[in-house]
Parts: sequence; C-alpha cells; structure tokens
Amino acid sequence: MSLTAQIRGKAGELGFNLFGVTPADPLAGAEFYARWVALGFAGEMDYLKRNLGKRADPRQLVPDARAVICLGMDYTPPPTAPPSGDDPARIASYALGDDYHELIKSRLRQLWGWICNQTGGERSGRYYVDTAPVLERELAQRAGLGWWGKNTCLINRDRGSYFFLAEIILDLELEFDQPATDHCGTCTRCLEACPTDAFPKPYVLDASRCISYLTIELKGPIPNPLRPLMQDWVFGCDICQQVCPWNGGAPTTSEPALQPRDSLRDPHLLELMALDPAAFRDRFRNNPVKRPKRAGFLRNVAVALGNRKKVDATPVLTTALDDDEPLIRAHAAWALGQIGGEAGRTALNKALTTEQEEVVRAEIESALLELEANASEDRTGIAS
Ligand code: SF4
Repeated sequence: MSLTAQIRGKAGELGFNLFGVTPADPLAGAEFYARWVALGFAGEMDYLKRNLGKRADPRQLVPDARAVICLGMDYTPPPTAPPSGDDPARIASYALGDDYHELIKSRLRQLWGWICNQTGGERSGRYYVDTAPVLERELAQRAGLGWWGKNTCLINRDRGSYFFLAEIILDLELEFDQPATDHCGTCTRCLEACPTDAFPKPYVLDASRCISYLTIELKGPIPNPLRPLMQDWVFGCDICQQVCPWNGGAPTTSEPALQPRDSLRDPHLLELMALDPAAFRDRFRNNPVKRPKRAGFLRNVAVALGNRKKVDATPVLTTALDDDEPLIRAHAAWALGQIGGEAGRTALNKALTTEQEEVVRAEIESALLELEANASEDRTGIAS
C-alpha cells in the first residue's frame, strides 16, 4: 500500500471523513481574494486582511513543502424534533456541540505524529484548523474534497457542505488527487434564500451582510437596516446550506463531541435573554457560542426578540436596559421599539433619565420615535 493510502486510512481511523492531497503550489485564487478584501467584503475581520502573501502560497508557511493534505470532518447533526414554544432561537448547526478547534487539533496532532513515525522521525510541516493564513477552500477544491459553491461553501457530492476543513502542509512527496469540478449548474437556491442579500453575485459573499458575520465576528452594534432581516438567528446561520440540494443526503456526524448538547437542542429566546454572566459561562463552556462573548450574544438575542415582536419579551428586555454592557442595553432598546406597547415606552422613557452612554441614548431615542410612528399609524388605521 502506498504511503498516501496509508495516511488516508489513518486519517479515516481518526475520524476524518474527507481526505485529499494537492501540490504545495501557489494558489490561483489569491488575486480574487485580495480584490474581495479591497471591496470591503471582509467587514471588520482584520485577521483576513493580513498576510495576503502567505495566503497565496503554502511554501510561505513551510518553505520546503511539497504537498498539502486536506481533510474534512462532518458536523451535520442528527435530525431533531421541531422547536417547542413560540420563541425558538436558531443556532448554526456547527455550534451545537463542543468547540471543534480543540477536537480537530488533537486529531491532527495524532495524525502528524503518526506520519512522522512512519517516515523516520523529524519532518518539516505544520497543521491547521481554521488557524492558518491560507486559502483553505481553494486548497481543498484542488485536493478534490469539493467545489466552491455559489454560496461560497465547499460542497462535496456525497457529503454536502456541513464539514470542517483542516490541512497539513508538509515536505513529503505524496500522490495528488484531481481537483473537484463545479456541480451547482443552473441552481440559484442559496442566492435567493439569503435574507440579508449577502451574495452580490454567485460565488461571492459580502461577509459584512452575512448573518454569521453579524452574529459572531462583528464586535459592535449590528447595522440598523440589517436587524429586521436576521430573523431568529442568534449565532451563525445555516440558510444557504439548508436550501442546498447537495445537503439533502448529507450523513450525520457520529463524533460524540459534535453531537448537540441537551442545553442547545431547543433554545428559547426569552430564557437566553435572561442569562447573567455566570449562567452564560456555564451554558457555553467549550462551545463556539462563547466567541462573541455574552455582550455580543445577548445583542443578537435582543435583535431576534425585536423581530419576533411579542410583548411577552418586554419584561426581560426592560431588565436588559439596566445591563452592565452598553451593547446589550442598546439592542434591548431597539427591540422594545420594534415590539411597541405602553410598558415598553415607559421602560424606555425611564432608561433615558439615567442612561449615560451616548450610543445607548441614541438607540433609546430612536426606539421611542419608532414607537411614536407605529402608534400614529395605528391611530390613523383606527380613524379610517
Ligand atoms: Fe450551488 Fe444550488 Fe447549493 Fe447554491 S444551493 S451552492 S447554487 S447547488
């Protein structure tokens, strides 16, 4: 059996569902990527704007690299029961279990150790999961793992797109795989389904409009015009993958660490909005949702409650107007403005008497204006 086949077998034993090898040559997509960054499509993700040279060439990371092993691990969760209650919160499926970084890094470490042992000890190489300044989707496409879909996810004919990517750049001469070819055809489902219109054209994502970016990467306030479009997503978004026909038969993950946690199977907006710092830490320990921290996460929950427009959220949002985090207070104010009602108006007017932060005051004032406008619309409706 060739060394490449042995490594493939070992990767499978370690839980990797996809495996391919490509030469460690410079990447053709580097120019496209630089243009994408220049157009502002990376939003505030400054780490994506650095190291453009390294991203274009794996040998900038491992100078004597000859091959890149590309790996994929499924994360499709098993089907769950429909949400209970009328305040469901939606979380991207990759975030329902443990944080994948540690899991995959430990498998990569084992695979790398095994490769070194099999090939006589010390080797030159590095392995990454989401952490390298390298264009991993292009490498994976070249290694045959899947094609770059119109939704910009990597799509595999047998496994869909719900998988994590990882790679090992190394100095070994291995057998290379054929690049994957595009099978999107005339389909445009993902482009039409995106609620925030985050695809300026097929194969291009304006991340600054993407719900995943807005709920995870963006640190500050969510731009006002995008809030009503975000539905009930509070961490990430799966819409462009859910509608993709290639995900219809995607196998579910058998990895225990990636199974949905009981506490995340059926999350509810009202209880999430009430999480204090200790409860947030407990609930999301070793889980991706901790990334935007409590302030960013409750900002997202407040937006979802504002979109839900039900007055049973007024008490919990009123409490949030006193939160220590200005980001939470600001978005709670916005949500109260969307929901309307006398109790919300009273809470906003009261908050205005004590609020010191300019940004939050501006949100409260604009929420009160929104309430006023809606009330006068209602009056007009009644009068006519
Ligand atoms: Fe391609 Fe259709 Fe899937 Fe979009 S939904 S990625 S167009 S196959």
